[in-house]
Formats: sequence, structure tokens, C-alpha cells
Amino acid sequence: MTEIEKKINDLRDLLRYHSDRYYNQDSPEIEDYEYDMLMRELIGLEEEYPQFDTPDSPTKKVGGKADNTFENVVHSVRMESLQDAFSKHELYDFDKRVHDAVGSVQYVVEPKIDGLSVSLEYRNGIFYRGSTRGDGDVGEDVSANLSVIHNVPLKLNKNIPYIEVRGEVYMPKRSFERVVDRQLLNDEKPFKNPRNAAAGSLRQKDSKVTSSRGLDIFVFNIQQIVGEDITSHKQSLDYLKELGFNTVPLYTRVGSMDEAVEKINAIGESRGKLEFDIDGAVIKVDSLEQRDLLGSTSKFPKWAVAFKYPPEEKQTKLLDIEIGVGRTGVLTPTALLERVQLAGTTVSRATLHNQDFIHEKGIAIGDIVTVRKAGDIIPEVKCVNMHNSDTVYRFPENCPSCGEKVFRDKDGAAIRCINPECPAQLLRNLIHFCSRDAMDIEGLGPAIIETFMQNGLISRTYDIYSLDVQSIAELEGFKEKSAENILNSVNKSKENDLSRLIYALGIRHIGAKAAKLISDHFKTMDAVMNAGVDEILEIDGCGMIMAQSIIDYFSTPAAQELIEALKSCGVNMKSKSVKAADERFKGKTFVLTGTLPTLKRSEASKIIESFGGKTSSSVSKKTSYVLAGEEAGSKLDKARELNIEIIDEDQFLTMIG
Ligand code: NAD
Repeated sequence: MTEIEKKINDLRDLLRYHSDRYYNQDSPEIEDYEYDMLMRELIGLEEEYPQFDTPDSPTKKVGGKADNTFENVVHSVRMESLQDAFSKHELYDFDKRVHDAVGSVQYVVEPKIDGLSVSLEYRNGIFYRGSTRGDGDVGEDVSANLSVIHNVPLKLNKNIPYIEVRGEVYMPKRSFERVVDRQLLNDEKPFKNPRNAAAGSLRQKDSKVTSSRGLDIFVFNIQQIVGEDITSHKQSLDYLKELGFNTVPLYTRVGSMDEAVEKINAIGESRGKLEFDIDGAVIKVDSLEQRDLLGSTSKFPKWAVAFKYPPEEKQTKLLDIEIGVGRTGVLTPTALLERVQLAGTTVSRATLHNQDFIHEKGIAIGDIVTVRKAGDIIPEVKCVNMHNSDTVYRFPENCPSCGEKVFRDKDGAAIRCINPECPAQLLRNLIHFCSRDAMDIEGLGPAIIETFMQNGLISRTYDIYSLDVQSIAELEGFKEKSAENILNSVNKSKENDLSRLIYALGIRHIGAKAAKLISDHFKTMDAVMNAGVDEILEIDGCGMIMAQSIIDYFSTPAAQELIEALKSCGVNMKSKSVKAADERFKGKTFVLTGTLPTLKRSEASKIIESFGGKTSSSVSKKTSYVLAGEEAGSKLDKARELNIEIIDEDQFLTMIG
């Protein structure tokens, strides 16, 4: 493999990891800015080296993927993303492409709501299912949570046989302020912006929580309809209103791109006064027939474009720089500013992203800087207008929280404290350590962990294995019985498979799936800790970024101490997975699509893995079989196109005997 191919593969792995944190776990580790820069780098490399382009690259993928928290829903009409335009020039390029393909058109212009995309389905006018976008093909069934949103009608004004609509669930600014106030009051980590807040609130297991968050929805498209003949987008929005939907506001039909630009400007000017966040305006071809002719790429429709507004900006003085330690140990610089009014709010703090950003812009304390508000609610320092000093600000060499030496990520701009026992990260690490996919310690949820920490029962991860009934029972709100229950689950977790422990350590870039691969390969914690890069790279599914992350993690004295302590507490350090005597699927990759008659997709995946096979979410030339159920979507078409063997559940069951 050439250097450049490896670089491309590593970037793809990294983007997939962050996309998973952002879309599936509503818990991004990096700023959108950093993500967009990585994505831009990958797009550039793929353009420069088309020989390494692949159909499953994140540059061609929509959003995240459905996990096992909710039932999966296969979208019969793909839920696509949108192509971006950052300048008027790009809008006219889009206009030209459209005219070249279908002649003269009318457009509809509407605001781009900053929330998360959902599909709502109705049978005979009654709401029966609602789902998230997921990866565009498969989303998650969040019907229960959607049904508690006031503006999701449970019964339509007309009894039409079937309709699927698409909309954006968002958190109004009012609700966002209320929710964040409450989180701060409870000492919880506040949502970063209304988009994250909306996503986190919709993917709750308990719809009472969703209900308490004050979410709302704007509907902006008919995905499919039976019983009504609709020929244009404007007609569909009017019709959706008649049915009782809260349609996207401020939509207008225009006859040219010049007029569209006027409307975009008008929406942009009203931005600060709107009760909801927008991150752009969407321009869509109005005629549905012309849309069909224009078609789609693998990621977005060719009949629509999202114009992203330039961020709002003001100048002010940089008074100081504060270094915080984020949940994942990243040192984050915040600019403390002379107060300034920006987009309707008073701004006194702004992000400076990272050391590279500070260095690149030559930022020093006392400078006059431009601050801007982009899509995110958090403002950022854009550039320096007047330098006060030539001494560019430098990050401290030690963590401001624990004093340990900090390291620069090999694969990025972040400077990080990797001491797993750093107090700034301990709470977050412990929550992860005890979570369901990690050590699965029932009863040790975030609130209880925090109480234990505040009362001095836990000050390092391994302290959970020295908890005793009496100390817990003495705390307010606890009884002997509840203390015993907690200790039982703590003790039970000592028997977990090594893969859970590896995942629980929270090593950067090592998710549950990678942890399983590592555990199955090395069998013991000692072997993992002593492994070199090359040995880790032997594992199919582990790239350079993951390998280096493991090496870095175990090289710290704190990590070694943690493992030693866990060992002496009796925590299992061995893999329990019995290597499948029967590895009939070794080297085979399956893609699952549609609903299988009896097996859940997660069950089928487990069976495949137990026979030594792998599963993947996208069809490529490397796919061995596509296991297809009912309502299989575009993956089936793709499989036919690539001549991949398609099997049904019966054939699969025969294969596994
Ligand atoms: P997008 O948000 O740029 O645009 C597509 C979405 O716009 C659609 O899914 C749709 O739901 C929504 N939309 C809102 N109003 C609409 C309207 N009126 N008409 C049509 N659609 C409308 O694209 P995306 O793929 O959802 O997200 C990409 C963005 O997410 C990037 O800018 C990136 O910064 C961010 N991201 C960040 C991280 C991170 O780690 N920080 C990770 C992944 C993605």
C-alpha cells in the first residue's frame, strides 16, 4: 500500500469514527470546524488520486447509522443529504447545471432548519411510524418519541391511504435556553447547540424525557404518497399544510436564480429574529418531473442546493486565553473577550479551536480580533485585525487540571492530556467505563457516579471495585439493599470478556467493535499492552490511527497503573471468546438489508461473526453476500449492479446449517 493510499484510508477511518460520535452518539469529540477540515482534506486527496476513490468513502455517505438502541427502519425512499454552496457564484453554477439538464425551471426557496432529519409515515391518515435518517437507507424507529412532539399530528385532516413526509426536528431557542439552564443547575454537561440538543433529546429511551425538552418540527417534503396527485414542491408544501403539518415557514416560489438570491438575502436578514436556528437556505427545483430527470448522486439530490450563510462578525479585544480540559482530555483554548453584541446576544467568550489555529493566525493576548457566529451557537475568533504583540500564545506543556505532560495527537491538531485519571476527565471516563456496551455495571449511572465522586467514594476508576455496602448506605437516598445491588453488578462486571474492558478504557478511536477484534486477536491484556504497531496492524479492521492510539495509551504510567490495579481487584484480563471451531465465513463479508422474516439483523450479524465472517453497512466489490429481507432498498440494486450474490433468510439458515 502506498503512503498516499494509507493516508486516505486513515482519514476515512477517522472521519467514520467522528461521524459515529456525532450522528449516532450525539457526542462529538471535535468541533465541526475540525471535522469539515478533515473532510475537505479527504475530498482533495480523492480528487487528486481518483484511483483510490471508493464508493463507501465518507465523502459519499449520508449521516450516521442506525444502532441497536431502537428498531431499524429501512427507508423505501432514500433520505439524502444536500450539496453545499458557500458563495453566490456556486449557486449560479448549480443553476447552470440544472438548466443544462432540464431547461428552464422554477425554484422554491426555504430556510434550512438546523435540527435532525426524520421521516413520518401515515396509513389511512393515522401516524404509524417515525424514524431518523440514519445512513439514509436505514434509520431508527423513534415513533414513541416523535409522537410526543406537539406538532407531529397523530391524525391527519384527510384520510389518505398512505403518505411519508420528511421534516426537521429542532429545538426552539426558547426551549434550548431552558434545557441548558436546567442542565447547568444540575451540574450536567450542557448541550453545545440546539442541533445536538434536538438529536440527543429525540434518541431517548424514555419518551417522557423527550417530551420535557420542548422539541418542535417543520415538515419540508413528501417522500411518497398514495391517493393524491402532486406535481410540484410548492403544491406539496401547501397540501402538507392542509393535512395539518407544521410546514417549513417562509417558503416562496421564484422564477429565476436572481430572484432566489433575493429571497436568500431576505431570509438571511431575518435570521436573528427567528425563534429557531437556521444554518442556511435551501433552493429546490419546483417541478417533481424535472427533479426525477435530474436524479441524485450517492449522497445528495441534484435538484437542490443548500446555501450556507456567511457567519455574523464583530471586532473586539482579546483580554485573555483560558485553557480547559475537555471530556476526552483535549486542551481547549477559549478567548476571553471585551463584551460585544453579536447576532442578538452578548459575547464575552469565543473558541480558539486549537494551538495550530492560534499559531496560524498569530494570536496574542491584547490583540483586536474578529469574532463570528457560524452555525453553532458558540462564537469563534476568526482572525486578528490589530496585533498587540509578536509573542504568539503557546499552550502549556502540562495539563492545567492534573499537571501531567500533554501530547499532540499524531493525526490531528489536538493537544491532549492522556492521563486516564485526570480529574477533568474522570467523571466522563467512569460514565463510559460503567456504560452498557462497556463494563455494563447496572445501577452505576451518571448521577450515582457523580454522587460517589462528590462524597469521596471514588477518585480513580478502579475505586469502584473497592466500594463497600456501608459507605454507600450512609449516603443520603441510599439503603443497604440498593448498595448491595450496586456491589453485585460491580462484582459481576469483573467476569466480563476482555473486549468489554478494552472498550471501557475509552482509548481514543477504539470503539466496541475494534475492542472485540483486538481482544479476539491478542487474547490477554498483557499481550495487548505489549503489542507493537505492526502486530496491531495485522488485525483486519485496525488501521494506523487506531494502532498508534493503543500504543500511546498504554505507554502512560497512569494507564499501566490502572490496569495493574484492576488486575489486583480481580477484573478478568482474558478473552473469553472461544474461537469458532467452524470458521466457514472466514474472509467473507455480508451486507444485511431489509427486514428478515424471523431473524433480527443484529442476530444475523452475530451469527455471521461467530462463524468468522464480517458485516459491513455498504455494498462494494469486496462484498461476498447481500442478505436481503423485505423492503430491501438501494443496497439490493447496488448488489445486482455489482453482481454480488443475493441470499434470503432461508438460504442463510441453510448455509449455517
Ligand atoms: P447538512 O446538515 O449540511 O444538510 C442536509 C440536511 O439539511 C438534511 O438532512 C435535512 O434534514 C436538513 N434540512 C433542514 N432544512 C431543510 C429544508 N428546508 N429542506 C431540505 N433539507 C433541510 O448535511 P448533513 O449531512 O446532515 O451534516 C453535515 C454537517 O454535520 C457538516 O457540516 C459537519 O460539520 C457536521 N458534522 C460534524 C461532526 C463533528 O464531529 N463535529 C461529525 C459529522 C458531521
